[in-house]
Amino acid sequence: MKVAVLAGGLGGSRFARALSETLPPRDVTVVGNVGDDVEVSGLYVSPDLDTILYTLAGVLDEERGWGRQDESWNAREAATDLGGDTWFQLGDRDLGLHLVRTEALGRGEPLSAVTARLAQAFGVEATLLPATDHRLRTWIATPAGEFPFQEWFVGRGHRDEVDGVRFEGAETARAAPGVLEALEAADLIAIAPSNPFVSIGPILAIAEIRAVLEQRRVPALAVSPLIGGRTVRGPADRMLARLAGGTGPAQVTDCYKGLIDALVVDEADAEEDAGIQTIVTRTLMSDAAARRRLAEAVLGAPV
Ligand code: GDP
Ligand code: CA
Repeated sequence: MKVAVLAGGLGGSRFARALSETLPPRDVTVVGNVGDDVEVSGLYVSPDLDTILYTLAGVLDEERGWGRQDESWNAREAATDLGGDTWFQLGDRDLGLHLVRTEALGRGEPLSAVTARLAQAFGVEATLLPATDHRLRTWIATPAGEFPFQEWFVGRGHRDEVDGVRFEGAETARAAPGVLEALEAADLIAIAPSNPFVSIGPILAIAEIRAVLEQRRVPALAVSPLIGGRTVRGPADRMLARLAGGTGPAQVTDCYKGLIDALVVDEADAEEDAGIQTIVTRTLMSDAAARRRLAEAVLGAPV
């Protein structure tokens, strides 16, 4: 059974890991968000792709939810001492990856090709594809003005309420090589329990990706990022409340209208009307057993 997954960072990578621990990893293709990508001190950083890479390679710092285990911060401390602007934290090992990627992009290698090389170097067997090789950037409209995604998320600690999101470059961005093919070859399309607005939104803003989902001939489902009406981490619940009018399964379903056939919800949300067929299970991927239980519920879903 081949599965194609749309994924953001934390929830996306945990779910990608759950699937690739349960299926042969070669049957799993992960399409990752690049709307969060940012240039930091001249380096190209792709936080969601990196979280997925590190997670599938087993080197993510799970406590922090981003970056690598056994990280050190010498470069950052040195830069700070020298008066550098280090608002975006990059550890030493993490920097190594950004150097390799930035160098390759500078030579004209597409993001998808660099990502494939990095995955191979990490021994990751699942396929990881950026949604697009083109420039696509998320902007966040707030009462304090509009900010590039990372300026809002990291720089301002996502404290501002969100009035809207905009995906610069989405009108002209094409799907990266392999993305449409993977979605068309899949036996199941799954949307990870990621932030619907800023993790999955940028992927679905690419017209040809959305069209493949709309015209799918295989089942598609999404896993809700909510547990008991709240997110495990991050601002998705606040965004759902303000932009979709509530923090229940129905508002998650609304984000994916016409694109999914079922929603996987946590037991804590089982009583809520989701406005679509639901599959109820425990969705917190706290350990290997929990990941497997969720993956099996998804793969065995009667859709
Ligand atoms: P980001 O790019 O790192 O913000 O990551 P995502 O958008 O992929 O994931 C953020 C979402 O993942 C949050 O809304 C969390 O509620 C959700 N999430 C994280 N871990 C889990 C989990 O184990 N189970 C479920 N159901 N959701 C999770
Ligand atoms: Ca992200």
